[in-house]
Amino acid sequence: MKTNKYCFNCNDEVVTNIVEEMEVFNVKGMDISILSKKRVCSVCNEEIFDKELDSNTLYEVYEQYKKLNHLLTSEEIKKIRNKYGISQKGLALLLGWGEKTITRYENGSIQNNSHDTVLKSINEYQNFIVFWSKNKDKLSEMERDKVEENLYKDITSFTLKVVYKKPKQYTNVNSFVMVNDLKENEYRMAVV
Ligand SMILES: [Zn+2]
Repeated sequence: MKTNKYCFNCNDEVVTNIVEEMEVFNVKGMDISILSKKRVCSVCNEEIFDKELDSNTLYEVYEQYKKLNHLLTSEEIKKIRNKYGISQKGLALLLGWGEKTITRYENGSIQNNSHDTVLKSINEYQNFIVFWSKNKDKLSEMERDKVEENLYKDITSFTLKVVYKKPKQYTNVNSFVMVNDLKENEYRMAVV
């Protein structure tokens, strides 16, 4: 792709090219090699700063670091979140974290091990539901409804067989009740 940019070396508007180059970055003491894209002047071959290419490279560096350290990648975190149809802020609040935390992780920031363990665990519905039952009131009503629709849809194929009730309709039962944990009369109450 060729784009005209200003080259400070040529002191002129020039045609630029994008080239690929192996680069080594050091992240927390670990060397990460990555094939990065750079914009260069087609006349003098000097690199021309390109914010978008630069941030893409950094994102890939951190994704690579996460893979090598067996942490969830940003893409994997996004995938787990999308499974529940919950927003970045919503998920952060649900987990009791600062409201920008998930946004930062999805943009490339490296999560610590304890946050990583929690994020891996909520890939399972039964673990997600533990946080859901505890903290869903921190979410807006609109978002709550949206996530509950998603859970309801998926729970039919959910192996632990969770009974789902909307609190609005069934005020005296929890939103989610694990069938296995219920006595028979409680079970009947929950499914009535
Ligand atoms: Zn130039």
